[in-house]
Amino acid sequence: MIEKIKELEALSRILSPSGEQKEKWNSRVLQYSDSFLKDIEKDKAYYHSEEKGRGIYEFDISEEPTELTRLITAVENNIDNAGINPASGGHMGYIPGGGLYPSALGDYMAAISNRYAGVFFAAPGAVRLENMLLRWMCRLMGFPENSAGNLTSGGSIANLIAIVTAREAQGLKARDFENAVIYLSEQAHHSLHKAIRIAGLSEAHLRYIPMDENLRLSATALEKAMIKDKESGLIPFFINASIGTTNTGAVDPVNSIADIAEKYGLWFHIDAAYGGFFKLVPGLKEKFKGVERADSITLDPHKSLFLPFGTGAVLVKNKEALLKVHHYLADYMQDTHTENEEISPADISPELTKHFRGMRLWLPLKLFGLKPFRAALEEKIYLARYFHQEIQKIEGFEVGPEPELSVAMFRYVPDDETRANDFNRRLLEEIRKDGRVFLSSTNINDTYWIRVAILIYRTHLDKIELLLEIIKGKLIELRSSV
Ligand SMILES: *Cc1c(COP(=O)(O)O)cnc(C)c1O
Repeated sequence: MIEKIKELEALSRILSPSGEQKEKWNSRVLQYSDSFLKDIEKDKAYYHSEEKGRGIYEFDISEEPTELTRLITAVENNIDNAGINPASGGHMGYIPGGGLYPSALGDYMAAISNRYAGVFFAAPGAVRLENMLLRWMCRLMGFPENSAGNLTSGGSIANLIAIVTAREAQGLKARDFENAVIYLSEQAHHSLHKAIRIAGLSEAHLRYIPMDENLRLSATALEKAMIKDKESGLIPFFINASIGTTNTGAVDPVNSIADIAEKYGLWFHIDAAYGGFFKLVPGLKEKFKGVERADSITLDPHKSLFLPFGTGAVLVKNKEALLKVHHYLADYMQDTHTENEEISPADISPELTKHFRGMRLWLPLKLFGLKPFRAALEEKIYLARYFHQEIQKIEGFEVGPEPELSVAMFRYVPDDETRANDFNRRLLEEIRKDGRVFLSSTNINDTYWIRVAILIYRTHLDKIELLLEIIKGKLIELRSSV
């Protein structure tokens, strides 16, 4: 048996590379990242590709090892050159992210030490660091220090945790589900609908509340709807407001909504996945008035803190409610529950073993300090307003509401207005084919709008000027082709 063990050991020891090997790999990976970032200011935001990365299938898993250089080339040829380039400042579609360099270093450190950040007993320092970040978010949102929060993989899971917590906290039983009412606007994010279904609440009534002309949920209409539902014997239990709708960046009147939630005893959730960290901008106090009155808030550091994808957050004021839903004591983990100085992430989320996400958030925030984050967010707001102002100067363009945050909408209205939707669809297609900037679109009441969502820290004035120039050029081309 010893012989067999030794034989296997010789093979498995390959998994711990030598110093020399590590050095080679490190320098090859750094070469990749340097070359990726070298021309990022000029690189395309969208790569139109016929192949769509198909070549990656040649690198399926096999018994024998493959050289790192071949693998990196495969990444460059199949992954980096197809589709959206989310690191580019020209990416202004959907809600863009970015990816901060120190976050990559934080991920690297977290993967090397592989701290078990799900449980306080196992990684007390790591859990303290993550909870400290969450307490900072709580302070930022005006939540009391004894609230709880979790670093999730994104806003979708944050919304899911919020709705499940609300369901239990409001005492809903299965027999109540078909009478439960959830209030939201048509502009609420679709991850909420997913969360409602996963939470077993698909039989609940979804009450879509009318919006004002700027697509903000109307608090007056909300109260009316709720009174009516109560009179019909239904069970109003959850209100969702958005701080920054994904479509248009509209900010719902959270303070007035909080009044209603309080008066009628509903769970008040704010989905601030897109807009939450704009609270760092001093001039936006009024828009955020009342956030501290929510029961739960979803934030997405991989949006408005420019982190690489994979980090969201949920904050819940009532810690006990959050624990009640997610806490579980397994026999095999009984010795992990002796110390309770800090809440363990595993006790307040569906996850047990998880990535030590805190590092990718803490490292950039500490290395840069908050100042450049505040400045970058304020800059994005001004860029959106600037675009909104300048596009109106080009004849034939119509705009959506003045951007509340960093999303602007526009469309071209040709002489024959019935062709507007079609024309704008083609305009967007042409912009994408060009690829230097990337935009997306939306439909509001059957009208097709092109959206500009500015949220990459690398997006500066020169990109907005470039965008305006591209739009002008494409417009001339399209008009001469009809
Ligand atoms: C992006 C977004 C979500 C979903 O977050 P993910 O991080 O993509 O899971 C939820 N709500 C709003 C308002 C969003 O913009």
